[in-house]
Amino acid sequence: MPDTSPAVVNIPGSFLQKTCTVVVVFCAIHLSVTVLYYCNTFEIFKNSFFVRNQQQQKHIDFNTVSPITETNAPFTEAEETKPKELEKCPETSPLLVGPLRIEFSQPVDLEESKNPALQEGGRFTPQNCKALQKVAVIIPFRNREEHLKYWLYYLHPILQRQQLDYGVYVIHQKGEETFNRAKLLNVGYAEALKEYDYDCFVFSDVDLIPMDDRNIYKCFSQPRHIAVSMDKFGFSLPYKQFFGGISSLSKEQFEKINGFPNNYWGWGGEDDDIYNRIVSKGMGISRPDGTIGKCRMIRHNRDKKNEPNPQRFDRITHTMTDNEWRWHKFPVLQGG
Ligand code: BGC
Repeated sequence: MPDTSPAVVNIPGSFLQKTCTVVVVFCAIHLSVTVLYYCNTFEIFKNSFFVRNQQQQKHIDFNTVSPITETNAPFTEAEETKPKELEKCPETSPLLVGPLRIEFSQPVDLEESKNPALQEGGRFTPQNCKALQKVAVIIPFRNREEHLKYWLYYLHPILQRQQLDYGVYVIHQKGEETFNRAKLLNVGYAEALKEYDYDCFVFSDVDLIPMDDRNIYKCFSQPRHIAVSMDKFGFSLPYKQFFGGISSLSKEQFEKINGFPNNYWGWGGEDDDIYNRIVSKGMGISRPDGTIGKCRMIRHNRDKKNEPNPQRFDRITHTMTDNEWRWHKFPVLQGG
């Protein structure tokens, strides 16, 4: 009879015991490695959480981060992207193109010619360098919307290529009173300073456009006459003392002459008065050369309520002799 009983393998007791011990030891090692691995993973998570918290705090108020956190903190992205101090813009902007084609035959569309770099309120600051001057451009204004459109269309790109930190202030004379250009310029000066720490002021008629972007709308060591070569005067100065159209004075120069006269109502004379004030305070006039200083004027009929001022000749002769303007207390908006 064949033997149908199951085969019994005789394993010696000591061998079984050894195998079990090996398996248990192996499991124990495996378990320890696993536990270590998880602990390690948890540690990494803890670190990244910590860093993230630090970044957040720095973003809110980096002055409150304690010195210990500062010195021990790992290098984070927030530190890498801290705004760096910009270098000064060069003395001569590399963006200038020179002579410009300026025409007034076609109306301009400001909607179409959008200027994305321009900020609210007609402000602009160069992005890649620190502008050398903070310039407020002041425009005396009444009933010249079409001219203003041309001015904005042409001047914003020019001023931006000149790498100026600038703001444009259109000072509107309300009502039907006789126009007073110089008083409006004084108002512009005072209003612009309420908004920003300007150090230079450019005073420009709304109908004058420079024909070369190298004619920089900034301030110089002496008061600057910018519109030196107007088409209206055959691209030359109508007379040597002419200071009309567009000019610039630093804050210091403007204060030295106690601002502009407030008592010139109607067309003419106020720019001659300003010239006299400058000279009588021991300053001279700085000018670009006749080619760079070319300007185009938008032709127009004489404005109502801005008729030539018959008193202007008399007033001008008094600027040098009459000392009253010198003693007006600053700011300049008194009198007139
Ligand atoms: C007036 C100035 C004017 C100049 C040029 C002079 O007679 O007094 O105000 O800018 O002419 O038109």
